[in-house]
Amino acid sequence: MSSGESKLVFVATSDIAGLVRGKSFPVSEWNKRSVRGVGWTPTNVQITCFDTIAESPFGSLGDLALVPDAQARFQMGDPGKALDVALGDIQSLEGEPWDFCTRSHAKRALSALHKLSGATVLSAFEHEFQLKDAPVRAGDSFGLKGFRDGQAWAEALIAELERTSCKPDTFMKEYGPSQYEITNKPAIGITSADNAVILRILTDDVLRRFGVNSSFSPILDPGSVGNGVHIHFSFVDDQTNPLTHDAADPHGMSGLTRHFIGGILKYLDQIMALLAPAEISYLRLTPHRWSAAFNNLGYRDREASVRICPVSSQDSEAIARQYNFEVRAVDAAASPYLAYAALVFAGTQGIRDSVEPPSPTQEDLSLLGQEDLAERGFHRLPQSLGDALQVMDKSEAVRSWFGDDFVNVYLDHKKQEMNKLEGLDWQEKCNLYKEVY
Ligand code: GLU
Ligand code: MG
Repeated sequence: MSSGESKLVFVATSDIAGLVRGKSFPVSEWNKRSVRGVGWTPTNVQITCFDTIAESPFGSLGDLALVPDAQARFQMGDPGKALDVALGDIQSLEGEPWDFCTRSHAKRALSALHKLSGATVLSAFEHEFQLKDAPVRAGDSFGLKGFRDGQAWAEALIAELERTSCKPDTFMKEYGPSQYEITNKPAIGITSADNAVILRILTDDVLRRFGVNSSFSPILDPGSVGNGVHIHFSFVDDQTNPLTHDAADPHGMSGLTRHFIGGILKYLDQIMALLAPAEISYLRLTPHRWSAAFNNLGYRDREASVRICPVSSQDSEAIARQYNFEVRAVDAAASPYLAYAALVFAGTQGIRDSVEPPSPTQEDLSLLGQEDLAERGFHRLPQSLGDALQVMDKSEAVRSWFGDDFVNVYLDHKKQEMNKLEGLDWQEKCNLYKEVY
């Protein structure tokens, strides 16, 4: 890729806090740095989203390399004034993946899936965001006026995305106040999670150039709707043949899909702290916000944790390619890599153990009593970050996928993040997260 006018390359990691941090080097050193990387500090992993530092097993010791990936290199900004950016992996000085590198965990999960089943994930992250401090206009849900307000920056954003691996799909004014949704085309393997990072970076950057400030925070107003990240999954084999659909199944799921979803739903409580990692995430994950509140598989139901999506094609080959399901219990306080890793590890475990998902629902589960829910294998997802962290702490499965050291560091990280919120009311907490994400 040409470096344009840029004199620097910024190497970026999307860290445990779900934020993009990194360092730069002169573009003339690409050949050397693409192998050796730039120096990185272990304790950086404990820098929370509020820039406080959690208890760290590393203290002031140790050295790592943040190594740019040529496949994840893109330009941000107007041509001629652009900055070269490359997403990267954190490695030991010997070149091994570091146990706390989010991108390396996602790659490991994808390889585990491929090794077990021969399947590669083809996926897309669908994002919602809101404008900060925009005046609220009544009657603007899915509205043309709100769309026109955003048209100039949206078209600039779409043009910029076109020049990256994150190919835009649709853009719209969403339901909530000053809320927009942007979707992109599915991509293979780790590129899909890279694309989610790229989309968040460019949205913030392009809109700021138009004097508009965006926030992907899970929820801006405790009384309103949240901003979701819905991850659409499908599978292909090494020859890119689709593996997700089976016309013989009443809901169209292949065995691979059924067990993968079975695994996600079986382990959902245990990975919620990785998918929805902020205290305020749990305001969003309540019934009637069209997010996810129960461990259910929904057939075309927008309140299910996992939803089988509709297909518009008519012929069987096109249906097999279009067929996909989405996981709706994710938000943008999570690094796309960690959310992806957790879901793919859980899904892979489901395939390994032939876990069957519960029957798909098409009803409002919030109307059922505890007993009725339990009889059918359903329960509310954890209702606070504290609860979700406790479940994760006790999860042998999560510890086996990510390693004890990672889980312990993650728990300490989140404890420190929550200290910052002590004594604040929900709106004050939302206000803090609004500025960060
Ligand atoms: N805003 C909803 C969420 O928090 C999603 C609405 C929709 O697009 O169905 O996930
Ligand atoms: Mg939406």
